[in-house]
Parts: sequence; C-alpha cells; structure tokens
Amino acid sequence: MQASMNIARLLRGSSSRARPIRRSYLPTSAWKCLEASSCFKIQRMNFCGDSPKRTPPTIPCEGAVTQDMEVEALLERNKSWAAKIKDINPDFFNVIAQSQSPSYLWIGCSDSRVPAEQVLGLAPGTLFVHRNIANSVNNQDVSCHSVLHYAIEVLKVKHILICGHYNCGGVKAAMQNTHYGFIDHWLRNIRDVYRLHKDELDAISDMDARERRLVELNVIEQCCNVYKTGVFQRTRLQTFRDPTIKTPLPRIHPFVFDPSTGHVNKLKVDWEKIIPSLRDVYNLYEDTNEDAHFPHNAAK
Ligand SMILES: [Zn+2]
Repeated sequence: MQASMNIARLLRGSSSRARPIRRSYLPTSAWKCLEASSCFKIQRMNFCGDSPKRTPPTIPCEGAVTQDMEVEALLERNKSWAAKIKDINPDFFNVIAQSQSPSYLWIGCSDSRVPAEQVLGLAPGTLFVHRNIANSVNNQDVSCHSVLHYAIEVLKVKHILICGHYNCGGVKAAMQNTHYGFIDHWLRNIRDVYRLHKDELDAISDMDARERRLVELNVIEQCCNVYKTGVFQRTRLQTFRDPTIKTPLPRIHPFVFDPSTGHVNKLKVDWEKIIPSLRDVYNLYEDTNEDAHFPHNAAK
C-alpha cells in the first residue's frame, strides 16, 4: 500500500513540477512494477534523458464549448422534467427515493428509438430494464443474466417483456455476409436464430418482409432463452406450488415495436407447440404438472 502511494506520488510529483523517478527511490519489486507501466515509460522518456523528449499530444478542443452547451441543455431539460412531475405529484420523488418495486422486466434493443418507459407510457419505478443490441438473451452475457436473476429473485417481477423492433440495425447487419469487426461476436446470436429458422426465412422472397420476420423470430428465441434458465424455471415451479398465487410467475411476453407507428404489438406464438420441444433438453426441474412450464399460459 505504502509502495503504491509512493509510486503515485512520484508519478504525480510532490510539487507542481514533477520530478524524475530514480531507481534508488523504490524497493526492487515496486521498481519492476513501475517499470512495466506505460505511464512510467512516458515519464522516463521525459525525465531520464535516454530517449528523445516527446511533446504530449494535444487534444483538439475546437467545438468543445458548443458540445458542452448541448450537454448543459440536457441538464436543463432534466430540471424542467423533474419540476413538471413535482407539480403533478409533489411526493413523487420522495416515494421513488425509498425503493423500487417494478412489476415488469423489459429486455429490449439499445436502439435510441425504443425507449422502454416512454413507448409504454410508464413513470420511473415501474420498469426494470436491460437493453443491448437486438435484445438478445445470450447465455454468455453476464450482465443480462444478472439483470434477469435480480429481477426474478429479488424484485419478483410478474412479467418479462422481450421487445424487438422493426428496422433493427443489429438484425439488418446479421443478415449480411459482411465482417463488421468486434460486433460480429454479438451478431452471431442473431445469425444463429436465422440458421434455426432458415427454411421459413429463405422462403420469404421480399427482403423487408424477411427482415421483419427475423426480428419476430429473434424475439421468440430470446423468450425461449429465458425459459431455459434455472432461475425462471425454479420460480415458475415455486409460484405454481404456492396456493396463494393463481398463475405461475413470471410470465414471458414477446413484443415488437414498430417505429413507423409507435405501437408495441404482442406476437402470437404457439407456446404449447414450442415449449414441449424444449423440455427434454432444457428442463432443469422435474414437475408433473405441465401447466407450470408454459411461459405464457392463460390462467387455468
Ligand atoms: Zn435494434
């Protein structure tokens, strides 16, 4: 700890003018650690004289003031928004400051046109939200599964809303045989959905219609991915066995947002056909009552 503080002090300099770092200042282990850091290499070039001095790169600041004003305007809008809510409900922020108890988990696309609370007309505190490119529930995504776990086990949400949207950039990109760089790893999730439904999709000759169908199929597959998780299945069984709860929870709802109308539509999905095909492989708990398995069963 002391060594790291010494390193920090040396790098920063004890006065406004930084001092060169000398080998004798530090124990061997700390020196080796410092020697490996890029920060040290820059200092060494500047101070030790064994490399030509370098002028630090200048960060362009043209337009920075204008850009800052744009951000300042956002903060003003925020104050105005908070004031309007307070006018309507003076106690609103006192209440939401205490805790949250949302009934819904929203898993949606990061697309700026699909802000979850706004398209559903909901106030802060009603929706727990996870968003990523093309609303994927990927098995390797720690963030998504942490959200899912917390929403189901701690917040005890009743409904999981998985919402895709037409004209989705992620889905469009996944339909191209193009290398996009790092994001290809993520787009693979959607390409896998295409592969699973290739016959149906390839039979659609109109490319816009094919893309829209892939958006829908992607939502349905992400619903299945939620179904596959232990936390979802376990909670469904627990609530099924609880006589005080009428319907097993949580329920999964496949949604698609249409940016051309602003409407969120619920997809018609034959779960009674899909879920049995998943059970043999993905069920993690035994249960004799099949009703508990359906992610969106009617209250029977
Ligand atoms: Zn999207």
